[in-house]
Amino acid sequence: MDVYGLLGNPVGHSLSPPMHEAAYDELGLEARYVTFEPDEDDIEDAIHGADALGIAGLNVTIPFKQDALEIVAPEDLATRIGAVNTIDFSGSGPPTGYNTDAVGALRALRDHDVTVEGAHAVVVGAGGAGRAVAFGLADAGATVAIANRTEPTARDLAEEVPRATGHGLAELETLVPEADVLVNATSVGMEENVSPVPTDALHGDLAVLDAVYRPLETKLLREAAATGATTVDGAWMLLYQGVEAFEIWTGRDAPIAVMNEALRSRL
Ligand code: NAP
Repeated sequence: MDVYGLLGNPVGHSLSPPMHEAAYDELGLEARYVTFEPDEDDIEDAIHGADALGIAGLNVTIPFKQDALEIVAPEDLATRIGAVNTIDFSGSGPPTGYNTDAVGALRALRDHDVTVEGAHAVVVGAGGAGRAVAFGLADAGATVAIANRTEPTARDLAEEVPRATGHGLAELETLVPEADVLVNATSVGMEENVSPVPTDALHGDLAVLDAVYRPLETKLLREAAATGATTVDGAWMLLYQGVEAFEIWTGRDAPIAVMNEALRSRL
C-alpha cells in the first residue's frame, strides 16, 4: 500500500483526497491519499517523519509551501517560484520538491486549445499563484505583464521572470485589450461577485483562466464569456496540478477524465 497525502493547515475542505483516490481506483493501484495538519512549528519534523515512515508523496499547501522549499531538494522551477507544492520521496537522496501549479495552469490552458508560446499574457496577482503562473507562462515562451494591487511586488517579480513587466491594477485598462491570454491569480472573485479586471477591457480574442474555483463561474469568467473569449475555470488548474503530481509520483499517465469528474462533482 502506497500512502500519499496533503500537508497543510487547515486541510479539512481539500478536494485532493477524492481526486487522487479516484485515480488509484481507476488504475487499480493499492494506494491511499490522506490529509495531515501539523502545527506550524512542526513542519520540518513532519516532512522528515513522512520520509522515515515511507510515505510515497506529499502535496503541500498553505501555510507550508515556502517552508517546504527549505526542507527538501527543490527543482529549479520551484526554487524560482519560491514554493514547493509537491514532494516526491521515491529517490535515494533527499526528497525532491516540485511546484506543479505552474504546469497546472499551462496544461489547463492547452487543454482548451490556447497557444501560450509567443502569446502576450497578462497575469493579475503576484502572490503564490501569480508567481507560479508568471514563471510557467514565461518559460513556455509568452511575454508576461504582471499587474498587482501592490505594484512594487509586481515590479519585483517582473525582474525575476524573463520578458516580464510589472504594473499596478489601473494599467489593466490598457494591457488587457492588447493581450491574448489573461490569468486572474488573485483571490478577487472568491465568494464575492467582483472582478479584478475592468469589463470594457475584455474582448473576444482573449483566453481567460481564473485561478479562483469557488465559485467555478466567477464574474470575470462570465463577463469574458459574454465577449466571446475562451474561458477556463480554476478547477482545470486545480485538476492539472494534481494530475502533474500524480504523474511525478507514479510515473504513469493520470486518468484525467476520472480525476476531473471526482473534482467537479464536489464543487
Ligand atoms: P496569495 O499568495 O495570498 O496572493 C494573493 C494575491 O491576491 C496577491 O497578488 C494580492 O495582492 C491579491 N489580492 C488579494 N486581495 C485583493 C484585492 N481585494 N484586490 C486586488 N488584489 C487582491 O494567494 P495565492 O496562493 O496566490 O492564491 C490566490 C488565488 O488563487 C486564491 O483564490 C487561490 O484559491 C487561487 N489558487 C488556485 C489554484 C488552482 O489550482 N486553481 C492554485 C493556487 C491558488 P497584494 O500583493 O496587493 O496583496
